[in-house]
Amino acid sequence: METGSARAGRLIFKSRAHFQQYAAKVVPTTNALTLVRRACVSVTLVVLSFALGLSSSLAGEGLKKYSIGYRLCADTEGPNCQKLRLGDRYYSTQHYAKGYLYACRPANPNAPGSTESRITWIDFDQQHWNFLEKPWLPSGTFKSEAGIYREVLSQGRRQIQVNNLPVDRKIGDWPMTQYAELTRIDRNPGVPMGGRLKISLPIKPAIGAKPTCVPMGAIGVTRNGVVLYNASDGRGEDAVAREITDRFGGHPARDVYHYHFVPERLDAKPLANGHSGLIGWIIDGFPLYGYRGMGGVEMTNAALDQCHGHEHDGLGYHYHATIEYPYTVGCFRGVPLRLVDQNRSSDVMSGHQKYSDLPQPGGSGSRIDPVRAVADELGLSYAALRRAVGPSPPNIQRAARRLGVDASVLKQSFERHRP
Ligand SMILES: [Zn+2]
Ligand SMILES: [Zn+2]
Repeated sequence: METGSARAGRLIFKSRAHFQQYAAKVVPTTNALTLVRRACVSVTLVVLSFALGLSSSLAGEGLKKYSIGYRLCADTEGPNCQKLRLGDRYYSTQHYAKGYLYACRPANPNAPGSTESRITWIDFDQQHWNFLEKPWLPSGTFKSEAGIYREVLSQGRRQIQVNNLPVDRKIGDWPMTQYAELTRIDRNPGVPMGGRLKISLPIKPAIGAKPTCVPMGAIGVTRNGVVLYNASDGRGEDAVAREITDRFGGHPARDVYHYHFVPERLDAKPLANGHSGLIGWIIDGFPLYGYRGMGGVEMTNAALDQCHGHEHDGLGYHYHATIEYPYTVGCFRGVPLRLVDQNRSSDVMSGHQKYSDLPQPGGSGSRIDPVRAVADELGLSYAALRRAVGPSPPNIQRAARRLGVDASVLKQSFERHRP
């Protein structure tokens, strides 16, 4: 794969060759002084191109320590991890088709995301990306509280409750701002925090009249306690290819930790017939399985329907993970449900809004509503907190009484988020 900076380096070399060609032609008719000058320019160009080449390889070298290996990528089966199709051009609000994400919301080119010019692992000419060259936030000192996944079947429903933190405790060293090389590519300052989320799904979901579009935000939940988002970032571009997640496959949208694809370790327990085990549930009630079909054969988009699922061997309709876009679901076969979120609905429902593009009530641009910031920080319902504090200035004592929150905690949080 050729990177952006490698391209720049090659351009310089090309022009140097050009220049030398030109110099060789004119040398016999020029005087000594011009010759010296030309030689200097030539040397400068050589040094410059060498420096550029070096700096681009240094950037690549610097990022190398953040790359990871995947068992899925270690064999020749399935998609080629070094040439994965970039999903940017497979985002459609118009139709569903194999390999596409049928999205409900038009792409927002102004949403935050990675800085394209600093991405070294995507070949934008060829529209390919290299999973094995992508950097991932390592693990470090950051620890989250234990993840929770509870599932109860009652009254024809599958009731799932998570706190949106990994049950296996595998999480990177957030915030990423401590890693200059990574944050210059993707300036996500988020820190994962737990939040209670309840989902009620039909135990026997029905196939809908026709496939429906996939919203932003949580589209499912994994049995590892972490929600699943669709394949796209807020810009409608391939989130798995472009955004930096931790080496365990997740990253926070502000404080809401989520996956855009299935981290391979969650697919470690195949069924007896080699078919992948259950990864989690999609919000239309159908299950999501791992990367392998019957006999342990790695799945590809071609082997699945437009929504990224199929039905066989008594498993009923189910979706599969693939290592190629759209990674989990392309559309919903069933009727998707609204998530019922106990106290953080604004966050989980608002989709992939990482830090600066959250809609602010009564304002646009960068003004942050302190009530929202406090609600997010303390895991309170925004609407309930807004009602409780009343009109500005916020009545903290009354809000603390009404919400059963410690007044000093509430006061400190408001001070932190004073506009
Ligand atoms: Zn299957
Ligand atoms: Zn994301």
